[in-house]
Amino acid sequence: MSVLRGVVPALALAAVLLTSCSQPEDPDQPTAAAPAVSTTATAAAPATTAATATTATASAVTSTATATTPSGSVPASVASEPAHPTPTRIPAPPTPSPAPDHGSPASLQVLVNKRNPLHPTAWAPADLTAPDVRATRAGLTLRAEAAAAAEDLFAAAAAEGVDLTLVSAYRSYSYQQGTYAGWVQQHGRAGADRISARPGHSEHQTGLAMDVGAVSGACTLQACFGNTPEGAWVALHAAEHGWIVRYPAGAEDITGYSPEPWHLRYVGTEAAADVVRSGGVLETAWGLAPAPDYGP
Ligand SMILES: [Zn+2]
Repeated sequence: MSVLRGVVPALALAAVLLTSCSQPEDPDQPTAAAPAVSTTATAAAPATTAATATTATASAVTSTATATTPSGSVPASVASEPAHPTPTRIPAPPTPSPAPDHGSPASLQVLVNKRNPLHPTAWAPADLTAPDVRATRAGLTLRAEAAAAAEDLFAAAAAEGVDLTLVSAYRSYSYQQGTYAGWVQQHGRAGADRISARPGHSEHQTGLAMDVGAVSGACTLQACFGNTPEGAWVALHAAEHGWIVRYPAGAEDITGYSPEPWHLRYVGTEAAADVVRSGGVLETAWGLAPAPDYGP
C-alpha cells in the first residue's frame, strides 16, 4: 500500500452551527453567590438583637431566618432593604464565553470535514514550523502551536518508552489536488473519495493535523496501528497534550472516515478533554452536523 494511502483522509471544516457548542465556563458562579450573600445578611439580623431569643438564633443556623425574624429587630442597615430577595444583587446574565470559531480557517477550533471545506479552499497557514520530533522525512511542518504540542506529545511518549515518528503533517491545497487527481484517475471519483480527501477538505491543510507512526514502522497508516503499543499509547494520552484521534472506530457515519488511529488533530487541551468526555467524536462534541459524505 503506498504512502498515499495514508494521505487519505483529512477533514474539512464547518462553519454552519457555530453557536451550538459554546462551553459555559463559569456562568453559575455569580448566580450562586448572590443568594448566599442575602441569606447571610438576613440570618445575621436576629443574632445581633436581644429580642430574638433562642428561636431566632436557631433559625439563623438553619437558614430559615427569614420566616422567623421579628420585624422590629432588624437593624437599620438591613431594615432599609426590601424584605424580598434583593433583586439588584442578581447578576446580569452571565457573559457567555466566546463561541468557538469553527468556521475561520485560522481558528484552532476550525472544523474541516466532507461537508465543510476550508474557506477559502486554497487557504494556507501563516505560521508553519517544523516540530523538533523524529520524522520519516524532512520538511514536515505544523502550525506553531500544534508543532509545540507535537513535541510535548512525542516527548511524553518517549519518557514512557514509546517511540513515535511523524509520518505526515501539513499538506497544501495543491498537494492534495495532485493526490486526489491521481486517485480519481486510478479509481474514479467514487473510488477516490473512499481513500483520499478532496482538495480543500483535508484536515492536513489546516496545519493542525498529523499522522504518527511507530519507529519500528509497524502498521504505518494502517488500522492495525491502533493495536501497536504506540497506537494504544496515543489513544490513551493524546488528549493530555491537546490532540484527539480524529477518526475513531464506530464513527464513520459522523466523521465520514474509517478508523484512522494514526491521524491526530490538534484542538488544545481543554477542547481535547471535552471531546474525550463526550465520546471522542469531534462533530458530536462540538454539536455540529455529521458529515458522512460530500453531500448531494
Ligand atoms: Zn492524516
